[in-house]
Formats: sequence, C-alpha cells, structure tokens
Amino acid sequence: MKDTNCIFCKIANGEIPSKTLYEDDKFRVILDLGPASKGHALILPKEHYANLYELPDETAGEVMKLAKKMAVQMTERFGCEGFNLVQNNGELAGQTVFHFHMHLIPRYKDDGQKIGWKPQEVTQEELEAVVKCFGAEE
Ligand code: AMP
Ligand code: ZN
Repeated sequence: MKDTNCIFCKIANGEIPSKTLYEDDKFRVILDLGPASKGHALILPKEHYANLYELPDETAGEVMKLAKKMAVQMTERFGCEGFNLVQNNGELAGQTVFHFHMHLIPRYKDDGQKIGWKPQEVTQEELEAVVKCFGAEE
C-alpha cells in the first residue's frame, strides 16, 4: 500500500527524484538531504509502513540484509572506517518522517558526529525488575 500524502512513498516509487544509490522491486536507497556524514543514506521500502511495528517480518529481514550489503559496498567505495545503522521509531525517539526507513551512516575519523546516548547507572535489582517487567523471569 502507498500513502498519497507520504513524501517517502513518492521518493521510493520514483515520483519525486532523489539521489539513488540502489533500487530493486521492493526498496530504494537514497542519499539523505541532511546528512550526518558523506554518504548518509536511507533504506526506503516501496510500500508504506509508518514504523517498525507495522513492518512485516519478511520485510524487516530484507531491510537488515540490504543494510549489510550497502554497508559493505559503502565501506569499500567511500573508505569510511565505521558505520552506524539507526532507525528512529516514533516521534519521541526522533522520527520525523513516518514512513519506515533505516539510516545508513558511514563514519570517518574526525567527522565531528556523536551518535549515542548518555549511559545511566543501574543496580542489579533494577536490572532484575526490568527482566520481570518484560515477563522473562524464571
Ligand atoms: P528520521 O528523523 O529518522 O525520521 O529521519 C528523517 C530523515 O529524512 C532526516 O535525516 C532528513 O534529513 C531526511 N529527509 C527528509 N526529507 C528528505 C528528502 N526529501 N530526501 C532525502 N532525505 C530526506
Ligand atoms: Zn510512505
């Protein structure tokens, strides 16, 4: 299904031009217009899924396989020294375009980017409570 109001549907399906690194019948990989680094790209499914929760299992598997393939090729061709795969899921997590996409961010020495989080202190009891909350306690 496509969403007629969705810009990534239009880009993924070629109705709006983009700088495309890869395309097949299910995906298009485009360069991000606000890149974190040289080669920052986005994997877009051609079908509209707003987020990870909506993504079919089969498509989720294909996204990860494609991410690996792209990471290998981009590392060879751009000469990056590391890679971040990022998927912002939900507004609170930083998602701004509500058509599922995976960020492929090549990393270079001194690229000035810092992608991460602030580690918090945690006790064994707190970790155990999380396991219990998840429902995985023995
Ligand atoms: P997110 O915040 O994870 O939803 O990421 C959205 C990303 O899409 C951002 O990195 C934007 O720079 C990028 N973006 C938004 N519009 C376009 C566009 N028309 N073409 C390419 N990238 C875009
Ligand atoms: Zn869409």
